Amino acid sequence: MDYETVIGLEIHVQLLTQSKMFCGCSTRFGAPPNTQTCPVCLGLPGALPVINRRAVELGLRAALVLHCTVHPTSQFHRKNYYYPDLPKNYQISQYQYLEHPPLATDGYLEIEVDGQRRRVGIRRVHLEEDTGKLVHPEEGNVSWVDYNRSGVPLMEIVTYPDLRSPQEARAFLLKLRQVLQYAEVSTGRMEEGTLRCDANVSLRRPGEPLGVRTEVKNMNSIRSVERALAYEVARQRELLERGEAVVQETRHWDERRGVTFASRSKEEAEDYRYFPEPDLVPVEVTPEWLEEVRRGVPELPDARRDRIMAQYALGRYDAELLVQTRATADFFEAAVAAHPSPKAIANWMLGEVSAYLNEHNLEIEQLRITPAQLAELVRLVEDGTISGRIAKDVIAEMLQTGDSPRSIVDRQGLVQISDEAALRETVEAVIQDNPGPVRDVLAGKEKAVAFLVGQVMRRTQGRANPALVQRLLRERLGLLGG
Ligand code: ADP
Ligand code: MG
Ligand code: ZN
Repeated sequence: MDYETVIGLEIHVQLLTQSKMFCGCSTRFGAPPNTQTCPVCLGLPGALPVINRRAVELGLRAALVLHCTVHPTSQFHRKNYYYPDLPKNYQISQYQYLEHPPLATDGYLEIEVDGQRRRVGIRRVHLEEDTGKLVHPEEGNVSWVDYNRSGVPLMEIVTYPDLRSPQEARAFLLKLRQVLQYAEVSTGRMEEGTLRCDANVSLRRPGEPLGVRTEVKNMNSIRSVERALAYEVARQRELLERGEAVVQETRHWDERRGVTFASRSKEEAEDYRYFPEPDLVPVEVTPEWLEEVRRGVPELPDARRDRIMAQYALGRYDAELLVQTRATADFFEAAVAAHPSPKAIANWMLGEVSAYLNEHNLEIEQLRITPAQLAELVRLVEDGTISGRIAKDVIAEMLQTGDSPRSIVDRQGLVQISDEAALRETVEAVIQDNPGPVRDVLAGKEKAVAFLVGQVMRRTQGRANPALVQRLLRERLGLLGG
């Protein structure tokens, strides 16, 4: 029997708050080092923390979205360890300790892989604070520390060991990021560190107890998590097949070399000496507060997909693609608000726009064009100003330059030719030059009509109004009413 892969994830998410977890300092990213600090987040003696209500609300939101049980009281704890990025020498976190549960436990998130839907269990959701950041410059025998990040609100989400492949781990992270973005809990960008993931993985024979696991760290994209896990699965399999044991350890992912390696182990029985934080009252969540939070949760992806299908008469497939990220759905709805042609707008977005984003490895937020400009392009086609053929050139130019479709059309003289007299001349010339196809048309071969229309389009560089060309051709060949 083959081995079964077992994966559990620990995910840290930076919460979308203006201020830190236990003080009023700003969480704004990119400020000069140590300019967003105060006695609390610097851990100066005598400074007292106060819980950020908004951070708790965002944690509750996440707990609800993940179908967790929210505990009426939870308690912060001190996790003690010594490291220079941790000025208090302890991190305020939540912990399962005697009768004190974390903020929320036992939920799930549904994923779909290869058409199969599966529920992945969530063991816990808890709140904690981030540490500062150490910088080790190449020059000089020094290290720097920046405490701007110290005390920034984090949420930790821990899954049960329910994932069965690196692909499922990837699907889980994509789905988690999507719902957290929709719920406005976090920006969820691994590249920027607002979502970080440690992956635990082991192998076993199906039906046997869990095998010895390794924990892989240092992945900076969802794709890297999948790759790191695939590497680790292969490595463990090889060990087991040689009759060797997997060592429980933390391993680091090397993105460039595509391998994991054992890091100096500060391993095993690490004793954090957890104890309740005496400077903070317990977090009390009343049913009323929880209900208020529930009402404030923005529309989630599945609900938005269903609404978009109903409201704009789109198919499930298109709607699913449009809600993939919140920014995409927002772009679509803004464009439709500017010009009510949902089907055409969806087609452009899922066709040319999405191909452009893929090709240039961009996110929709980085597009040069606005929803209003896409709407304008659709209007120009619909009112006959440009042909559908020309519109493809125009959108390519729009995506490149960010110019409005109107200005591109004017600048390049792309306005559709709807002038009957001018088109009649071209139709006449095409008929003279193509006696064969003309005979076919007269013999009743419909396909030949399309060929002749194509010839007219070609001679006008795609600018002729195709419907008008059809009519003129049919009139001239005595086929009216066809
Ligand atoms: P720790 O207390 O060391 O962080 P936990 O028991 O909290 O360990 O588990 C951490 C993560 O590891 C969870 O996501 C859990 O599902 C996962 N996990 C635990 N045991 C295994 C295992 N044998 N194989 C794979 N994942 C595991
Ligand atoms: Mg852990
Ligand atoms: Zn502060």
